[in-house]
Amino acid sequence: MTGGSETSRPRVLILGGGFAGVGAAQKLKDAEADVVLVDKHDYHTFQPLLYQLATGLLEETAVGHSLRDLVHGQENATIHQATITEVDLDAREVRFDGMEPLTYDYLVVALGAEVNFFGTDGAPEHAFPMYTLVDAVRLKEHVLQKWQEVDRHPELADQGALNIVVVGGGPTGVESAGALAELYRGELSKDYPAIDQAKARVILVEAGPQLFSMFKDDLRTYTEKALADRSVEVMVGDAVASVTPTQVTLKSGTVIDAHTLVWGAGLQGNPVVHALGVDLERGNRIGVGPDLVLRDRPEVYVLGDIAAITDEKTKQVLPQLGSVALQSGEHAGESISRRLAGDEPKPFKYADKGTMATIGRGAAVVQMLGGRTMKGKKAQVAWGTVHLALLPTNEDRAKAVVDWVGATLTHQRTGRITVSTGGAEN
Ligand SMILES: Cc1cc2nc3c(=O)[nH]c(=O)nc-3n(C[C@H](O)[C@H](O)[C@H](O)COP(=O)(O)OP(=O)(O)OC[C@H]3O[C@@H](n4cnc5c(N)ncnc54)[C@H](O)[C@@H]3O)c2cc1C
Repeated sequence: MTGGSETSRPRVLILGGGFAGVGAAQKLKDAEADVVLVDKHDYHTFQPLLYQLATGLLEETAVGHSLRDLVHGQENATIHQATITEVDLDAREVRFDGMEPLTYDYLVVALGAEVNFFGTDGAPEHAFPMYTLVDAVRLKEHVLQKWQEVDRHPELADQGALNIVVVGGGPTGVESAGALAELYRGELSKDYPAIDQAKARVILVEAGPQLFSMFKDDLRTYTEKALADRSVEVMVGDAVASVTPTQVTLKSGTVIDAHTLVWGAGLQGNPVVHALGVDLERGNRIGVGPDLVLRDRPEVYVLGDIAAITDEKTKQVLPQLGSVALQSGEHAGESISRRLAGDEPKPFKYADKGTMATIGRGAAVVQMLGGRTMKGKKAQVAWGTVHLALLPTNEDRAKAVVDWVGATLTHQRTGRITVSTGGAEN
């Protein structure tokens, strides 16, 4: 492979095949350019469904989609699987692990975020984050192995082998706790009828005074009840101080015997941001202007979770959401196409679809921009509609409808088998 473009067309180099990177690539379909997308994986991860994968409700291919499939038929697009190690903005060159560097005419940085353990002792070694496909499979296999161990050695249940502590009272923590509790009280209670469910606790810990601080009171009350109905124990106003393979210690001094700690408490920008040599905003995110480009670098777009994009209407930094990532990606693709055709780019306008989260089967909450709220089954349908739109192709949407409706109707967790992922990389 050469550093420069193999045709006389300008090269648009897209780093990351998440919602933002794929959205940008697809909008460049008709552009007079070579579109090169590089990701360390050969698949796109649909993160909102990671809980369903971690709890055996969906299988890998419902959550990971081949990146090559997503640009099939797109004559100007190429996919490479490689890890980005360095971005040299002055040389307009990107370097990779095990692949020759590539130069660019336009660069799209869409590398997402990574988990932030906030320096918690033992968390990098022992916590289970929920950010990648591998994270979800690893958590599923760990949980299933714990039940198998207790089946062979029942005394381990008294040492907290089946207890799970979930950290974080935002959507990731609440959704993980709800999904894990449904797995425990549903299939696993049937799989292991001799095991006392009272020794299989799911405990949700939030440092702030309440869960779901971004939602209105009625949605919070609904969420607390939906979690209690699933026998999730909620502890607010306390934080995790340290974790070992068998215990979680809270800042208050409380020690919980638990062999599983799920981390849903925070994100930070992808570490590649440090190599860019630009000022970083809160959470290591990169600030961009109204057209989503870097100041003084009009050829560099930064999108999705890695970017701090200010909403032109509310003047607030937009949250790290799939719809923000997809819309910013599509905007960048359109903007570059316009510039390549000699037209002026337009500023980015975010269309807010509302804030939403699912707590479990038939239990979800939605808060619209104007303040209108929905809960229960109606909210779950709204969640499904908004999230279907995030899927990259019509085939994916059709498959998702079959998978989701099948999972909702039968509630069978056919994915609850263990295929060791030991040592697999993220
Ligand atoms: C568990 C969970 C649940 C969520 N639920 C929802 C939800 O219900 N609704 C919603 O709207 N949003 C949800 N989100 C947020 C949403 O998924 C993100 O905002 C969105 O995925 C961000 O898209 P992105 O394209 O910016 O980054 P990502 O989707 O993270 O994509 C980044 C890509 O960059 C690649 N990459 C990273 N580093 C490198 C490197 N060094 N070299 C090569 N490739 C690299 C990664 O492999 C990845 O494919 C959820 C997130 C999580 C973790």
